[in-house]
Amino acid sequence: MRVYYDRDANVTMIKGRKVAVVGYGSQGHAHALNLRDSGVAEVAVALRPGSASARKAEAESLTLLSPADAARWADVMMVLAPDEVQAELYQRDLAPHLREGAALAFAHGLNIHFRLIEPRPDLDVFMVAPKGPGHTVRAEYLKGGGVPCLVAVAQNASGTAMDLALSYASAIGGGRSGVIETTFREECETDLFGEQAVLCGGLTSLIRAGFETLVEAGYAPEMAYFECVHEVKLIVDLIYEGGLANMRYSVSNTAEYGDYLSGPRVVPPEKTKKVMRQVLEDIQSGRFVHDWMTECRVGQPLFKAQRRRWAEHSIEEVGNRLRGMMPWIGAGRLVDKNKN
Ligand code: NAD
Ligand code: MG
Repeated sequence: MRVYYDRDANVTMIKGRKVAVVGYGSQGHAHALNLRDSGVAEVAVALRPGSASARKAEAESLTLLSPADAARWADVMMVLAPDEVQAELYQRDLAPHLREGAALAFAHGLNIHFRLIEPRPDLDVFMVAPKGPGHTVRAEYLKGGGVPCLVAVAQNASGTAMDLALSYASAIGGGRSGVIETTFREECETDLFGEQAVLCGGLTSLIRAGFETLVEAGYAPEMAYFECVHEVKLIVDLIYEGGLANMRYSVSNTAEYGDYLSGPRVVPPEKTKKVMRQVLEDIQSGRFVHDWMTECRVGQPLFKAQRRRWAEHSIEEVGNRLRGMMPWIGAGRLVDKNKN
């Protein structure tokens, strides 16, 4: 595995380019602001007319363009609109207008790897994918650090696409903690698997099952929330800092013994891995992406129904109430929906 740092990147390369960032959401705001603060003189944000994100970008005095105008203007076009709209955006607004020899960039390999976008052959195509949410990419940068990034090149028309990718990664702060070279395929498939099996899907289902088990057994929902939701962060912080062993060093021996005894009963390794392999196969075969894009074409009915059902779960109501008692949690929060 190759890891690059700021000293391996030529940050002046990106500083001399016109960089357009399409989308000003979680990743978009972080890239645009970090690039600007790293000395990229010409940064523009591209949004659809009437976009709700426009006033947030304007509040930062960033130049706003339409996606087509941005494509005519940019040397580097970073696509940070949602994955499910990127193919149409590329076809309609970017492909007809991008300058000969420009660079097209992504923060996730999905559209290129699954060939939803087949870029013009004269373009450089690279990926800079921060391994963290956009709000953390911005917050860490402001603290003088950076979130590690993955870089990959899918098309190297200029012969210098990797240098440009490293330069870009350095300007958004990735070179401060490490930039790892990978491929679009590896980034895309491991990213989808991680979020489905462990980070988002696995964890939320585990939390919910634990919460419901305690509440159904007659315990106070507030107790269930503290034990099965709130404390997840405290445990994850210890794992983040020093791995599983660091967490087990910090908890009581009783907790550690119960961990060894009951963990594999709740998540039986062989059974779980069998299902995880099926999840991985659905990702590798393109079936997951095919189903998700079909869902998007018909207006996301299943997706929206799930979002509503989870939002109505008592775990959210209890959580809101309890977080109200702990005002320090909201102080200095990463997400402020009015600004980012
Ligand atoms: P987001 O949903 O937070 O923001 C999307 C932005 O695009 C919004 O500003 C929205 O107004 C704008 N937008 C929507 N439709 C558009 C269109 N048709 N044309 C132009 N702009 C449009 O998105 P995100 O989560 O930041 O994801 C962006 C990309 O970054 C995706 O490829 C995603 O996989 C990748 N990524 C995201 C994260 C993350 O932290 N969320 C982490 C790594 C990679
Ligand atoms: Mg991910």
